Amino acid sequence: FRDFIKKMIEVRNILKSAEMDNTLNLPSIVVIGSQSSGKSSVLESIVGHEFLPKGNNMVTRRPLELTLVNSPTCTRDFAVFNQLETGPVFDFSKVQQTLTDLNLAVPEDQWISPKPIELTIYSKNVPDLSLVDLPGYIQINNRNQPPILRDRIAQLCEQYIKQDNIILAVCPADVDLANAEALKASRAVDPEGLRTIGVITKLDLVDPEYSAHLIQNEDYPLRLGYVGVVCRPPATQTQPRALSILTRSKNTHNERYEDLYVSEHQEAFEKIKDRVGISRLRDRLSSALETSMAESLSGVFTSVQDELSELCYIMKVEYSDRVISPEGYVSYLATSVKNGLESVAKDYSRPRVREQLRKVLHKRLIEVADETIWKYSDKAGLLDEAQLNQAVASLTRSGVGRIAANCLVDAIITQVSQIIKDGPLSHHPAAKERLLKQAETAMRRQSQAAIEQVENAIKPLKSEMEYTDDDWIMARKKIIHLFEETGQDLERTLKKIQSEVGQRRLVRIVQHLHEPKDGSVKISQNLVDKAKEAVRINHQLKSIRQRLEVMERKECMLPDVEGKKRWFHFGSDADTLETVKKNISVTVDAGTPDAKTIHVWNHCQTRCPEVYLYLVMEKLLSTSALYVHHELVHEFLHPFPDELAASLSTTPNSGDGVMGLDRKEILEFVQENASVARHLQLQERRRILEKVRDKLAYLQHFNTNTIRFQNVP
Ligand code: GDP
Repeated sequence: FRDFIKKMIEVRNILKSAEMDNTLNLPSIVVIGSQSSGKSSVLESIVGHEFLPKGNNMVTRRPLELTLVNSPTCTRDFAVFNQLETGPVFDFSKVQQTLTDLNLAVPEDQWISPKPIELTIYSKNVPDLSLVDLPGYIQINNRNQPPILRDRIAQLCEQYIKQDNIILAVCPADVDLANAEALKASRAVDPEGLRTIGVITKLDLVDPEYSAHLIQNEDYPLRLGYVGVVCRPPATQTQPRALSILTRSKNTHNERYEDLYVSEHQEAFEKIKDRVGISRLRDRLSSALETSMAESLSGVFTSVQDELSELCYIMKVEYSDRVISPEGYVSYLATSVKNGLESVAKDYSRPRVREQLRKVLHKRLIEVADETIWKYSDKAGLLDEAQLNQAVASLTRSGVGRIAANCLVDAIITQVSQIIKDGPLSHHPAAKERLLKQAETAMRRQSQAAIEQVENAIKPLKSEMEYTDDDWIMARKKIIHLFEETGQDLERTLKKIQSEVGQRRLVRIVQHLHEPKDGSVKISQNLVDKAKEAVRINHQLKSIRQRLEVMERKECMLPDVEGKKRWFHFGSDADTLETVKKNISVTVDAGTPDAKTIHVWNHCQTRCPEVYLYLVMEKLLSTSALYVHHELVHEFLHPFPDELAASLSTTPNSGDGVMGLDRKEILEFVQENASVARHLQLQERRRILEKVRDKLAYLQHFNTNTIRFQNVP
């Protein structure tokens, strides 16, 4: 069957590329022989190029897995180092140099390494073969080669020859075959000589008759027989004149030298001519390897099938036969992160943003009231124009834009981080970090813009405020509500402190803080802090209660309009009118439309400052909500999920200059998730095994047919 070996080598390469070559071993030809037996010369003759390392200093230190690929259309022979990224090498002296470097890179103290060098040679002159060249056996120890090395080389060779490989035992003709290391070693693992081919080298160094005797060897019979070869001797060696001309040129083909030698001794070689020469050796190797591979075929096929069915079972149990791809996984991640973020974006509607900001501003309002208005609470709670302006300025100038934006940014970042951290990205720390950073940076940049806009927009509020009576009435209600709520909160906090510290103890500590009596009394800092906090809360509570009373006054119920008269409505009750008169300075106008309405001339002082502040705050709120929502939610939160998804996308450049992941990055990324990585690995393994199974099934079909055909008498 044509190209059988080539196809089997292809199968082997497929398995090798998937690092599955341990699963099944396809037979190779293992070349063994002692140092200087002519092993390299034989291999080079088979290949037709001088490419193996030369020298006395143990130049073969690693196994060489040599694959020959017959390439009929190849015009120039070349070699490829499978493990290096050098590409095809056309210059065989470079191949030799690289092999020398790779071998000599084995540290001196280790001498040899079992890690094979993989080399493939493509040529139209070579047969399809898979060979392994091994370090030569040491026969005589010398100072440079310690006894331990001898054993290690023997062990390494044994590893290869004890497997079901074909053994090519290289024995020089000028050494007694009984002493040939190669034959000794092969007999140990293949005592019946079923898978050993003997090569007798250097026939030119012995008498031709003796050569014929060696090749017909009856002392050590081998089923696959012996082949005699003559390779190029060193140029210095004495040789027939005609030959010396040939050997001087480095690239001269060994076979021509061999042909000349054989034809010079035609008579002696007549009987064994089909067992002499490199081309005969090539043929024998091919057919031996082909037979051996054909024999191993059904075993290999069965083990591939077994492995495959086990794999299918695992995939069914562990992954319910789901099929995934690296790109699919990454897109799934990107989509789920994106969806999560989109839901955050949806959460932040304008009203929600407004509510968030309201909380911040409420807090700020109480602080400002505490710092400014309540200082003057002795003046019946009313401020003059200057004091009121100061209070307003405190509120507007307090960096409220920054506070508002930052508080929202923090809330959004917390939520975004949560999604990035806890979501499906949990297996990908680097991507998580990157996205978090990306989110935070973009958010802070965007918030800067929001802050500037809010601050600019609220500048005018410091001097101009427009509002209607209804606005005032509403604001008053709200501030009363806020004060009541704040009061309740403060009461709760105070109660908590009281129960933690103990009512009596708290009173004692507070007293002690006011007028320390005994310097030796030691109170822990924690208690002191709590007592101080209680005092502060107490003050605030007092102020709040006082202010709530003030706000209940009639004059607080409506705003004044500076410098203008206005009608002020009361109920019909005469008492009420009296109360009003008592409490506020009013001028009752003669032209009153009816008895229930008095015309009140309001002065600036009559304004209830908190209500006014609340109005200012409301204005601040709507302005900041507008800008903060626009900058942070509209400009950032809405487009951000897409940006994030793009940076996780599987198309390297997904527009907007956002770089996605390339194939290599995707594969690295997927590796971070052990379960997905394993799933993909099993999937790939299954794909390869299926491919190999199909190839083997095809080969087996032809193989059995051929055998049947051959068996027909
Ligand atoms: P290796 O150490 O087993 O790889 O042996 P080499 O192929 O390097 O050969 C050892 C020496 O034997 C070299 O000097 C070769 O030139 C020489 N040699 C190899 N084959 C022949 C041959 O057929 N005839 C002669 N005369 N010398 C050979």
